[in-house]
Amino acid sequence: MDNQTQDKRRLAVLTSGGDAQGMNAAVRAVVRTALDHGIEVFAIKEGYYGMVEGGKYIVPMNWDSVGGILHRGGTEIGTVRCQPFRTRDGRRKAAHNLIKHRINNLVVIGGDGSLTGAHIFRQEWSSLLQELVEAGDITPEIAASNPYLNIVGLVGSIDNDMFGTDMTIGADTALHRITEAVDAISSTAASHQRAFVVEVMGRNCGYLALMGALATGADWALIPESPPDVENWEEKMCEVLRHGRETGKRDSIVILAEGAIDRNGNPITSRYVKQVLEEHLKEDVRITVLGHVQRGGSPTVYDRTMSTQLGYAAVEVILRATPHQEPSLIGVRNNRVTYTPLMACVERTHAVAEAIKARNFNLALERRGSGFAEAFQTLRTLVRALPHDPAPGQERYNFGIMNIGAPAPGMNTAVRAATRLALDAGHRVYGIYNGVPGFVHGEMEELHWMSVAGWAMRGGSELGTNRNLPHASDFYAMARTIEDHQLNGLLIIGGWTAYETAYQMYLERENFPAFNIPIVCMPASIDNNLPGSELSIGADTALNSIMEAVDKIKQSAVASRRCFVVEVMGHNCGYLALISGLATGAERVYMPEEGITLSDLQEDLQNLKQGFKKGKRLGLMIRSENANPIYTTAFIEALFEEEGGDLFETRHAILGHLQQGGNPTPFDRILATRFALHSVNYLIDGVGRTTDDAAAAFIGLDEGRIKFNHLQDFPRLGDRKYQRPKTQWWMTLRPIARVMAKPCPQDDCAE
Ligand code: ADP
Repeated sequence: MDNQTQDKRRLAVLTSGGDAQGMNAAVRAVVRTALDHGIEVFAIKEGYYGMVEGGKYIVPMNWDSVGGILHRGGTEIGTVRCQPFRTRDGRRKAAHNLIKHRINNLVVIGGDGSLTGAHIFRQEWSSLLQELVEAGDITPEIAASNPYLNIVGLVGSIDNDMFGTDMTIGADTALHRITEAVDAISSTAASHQRAFVVEVMGRNCGYLALMGALATGADWALIPESPPDVENWEEKMCEVLRHGRETGKRDSIVILAEGAIDRNGNPITSRYVKQVLEEHLKEDVRITVLGHVQRGGSPTVYDRTMSTQLGYAAVEVILRATPHQEPSLIGVRNNRVTYTPLMACVERTHAVAEAIKARNFNLALERRGSGFAEAFQTLRTLVRALPHDPAPGQERYNFGIMNIGAPAPGMNTAVRAATRLALDAGHRVYGIYNGVPGFVHGEMEELHWMSVAGWAMRGGSELGTNRNLPHASDFYAMARTIEDHQLNGLLIIGGWTAYETAYQMYLERENFPAFNIPIVCMPASIDNNLPGSELSIGADTALNSIMEAVDKIKQSAVASRRCFVVEVMGHNCGYLALISGLATGAERVYMPEEGITLSDLQEDLQNLKQGFKKGKRLGLMIRSENANPIYTTAFIEALFEEEGGDLFETRHAILGHLQQGGNPTPFDRILATRFALHSVNYLIDGVGRTTDDAAAAFIGLDEGRIKFNHLQDFPRLGDRKYQRPKTQWWMTLRPIARVMAKPCPQDDCAE
């Protein structure tokens, strides 16, 4: 130990505080990235407890130690609350244990408590070592050669309550559990005409309750940051629920965050809400407290991939760290990995809790960020039993809404939100059925508030959709449809065909002035191949469907030595293949953007053979459907099967249309709702503006922010030959996928 020097070659990772789904993915990424850089890496089991205890709790990790954990919930390296770490004595022991293992780089994955502890530990480091020297536990030379401790924090917490990241590890999965539960409760509630109060986690943070309500189409949400702003909120709430019943709604759901309070700071309990509903509505009310279900189950695609990205970034930060560098928190903001000083994040997180305590709710909401406040405002409109009446003398516009292209989960959510938001603003909405042919034949119906009830959670397309592009002769009929129904604006929700159709309509304005109305295209395609948006509605659902299927396929192969070639959709875009590959631990992803060459296949085969020779049990390759026209899935299967000989078998699985089906994930529902809000506002503004050329655009997410691109830029941003965007942000994830999937250097690697 005497000749040790402060270097970056030894690192430890720990999970602390409440467990969260995705922590395993983060640990796996930290371990594999570190090993890839030649860094020795340790796991400190049971969080700070293990650090204080030392000994068997600090274990060296290898490539295989983190094999087969990606799909597991909780944290494999354990977490317990640790009182001693709150004391200086405990932290001195912890410092001694790190010194014994020559560890001076630490990745802490936990909530704000754990990260506060990390920050204190980092600040005290030199003085703790000084005390160890004074006690004769370490030599002054050892203390001198370890002048600082590098700390990087990742936020593991299902509550999504931390400043410095848009999403915490585990929040997306928790939202999935809530959405699944509320969807299920809705169906039983509807059968019996019952009201349900669903309590979700979140002591100071209403994220889960708010987004859960937005995603499920619940009738009322109570969150700590924004208590009901009227004294008689109980009556208001019952009025909304009663109106809902009168207009045909059979279920009523109130979602309550566990930390919900009223304006005076008094807790609102689920029992109280039940009592209020029973008294006012005179119907059966049930309470469901979701509790630890929200922490359970396998992590979602988002939690696996985001945590992988963060774990990878944590090691990169440590490699770049300079002496006396402040600990940083690695998070995601606007769909990009970000680095923020850890303590600033902890302080700003506490500031929200303080604002709530001081009953300064406007400040609390503001401190949560604009997206949160906007979501809350949207929810307040969507949950109304009926729209506001148009303002006296207000001009009322007629908007058409349609779906074009293959069905994408979330299309219905978008139609529902857009319809209600437009109705609430005093306008009329017409649903155009069956895509372009329906448009040509004028198949449309006026949509009312209750026409779209229950659509938030439904997969498929209630309006009907297909991939037909308009023929040259169809534009006349489409223009007639617009004129006959006096449409003032058009919202087209769909994939590439939708965008092509809208672009053609835009070009046809010269010939058919009827097309000179505001038009918005909203990206809804599982392929995520639309220009102007980093993400399209439906892709998250498809990815989760793929991941669930691949997890099962992997389980089926435990007893045999087998390689699977799984074919996924995506058309000419490799997004589904790459992201599902990252989420399932695939060792190879074949994408159309990169193609497949014979030498690729030879190399992959070689790696497989070597792996199976060393005892590997499973191979997983994911192939995007159009990766190469010659080297098809069947070809690769046959090649590997033949060449694998006695070493391994090869099977293929073509996932097909299960990827287009299913109820939308919470992310897709929330994205659809967000897009709908901005699209409707865009259309309303567009009609109001009198220019020669009416607004025409496609909406999207650009680095996490809503952005409209003019339709004339469709060819500039979209590669029309290959039907995909010209730039694809997610291609930057390829190096991470490659590191995670490198051939295992150990003898008995399982994944
Ligand atoms: P979370 O990290 O999920 O917020 P806790 O608040 O329970 O969970 O914190 C987890 C652990 O982090 C605690 O058991 C304790 O060991 C450590 N910790 C929390 N707050 C502090 C603090 N102020 N000082 C030192 N250690 C702390």
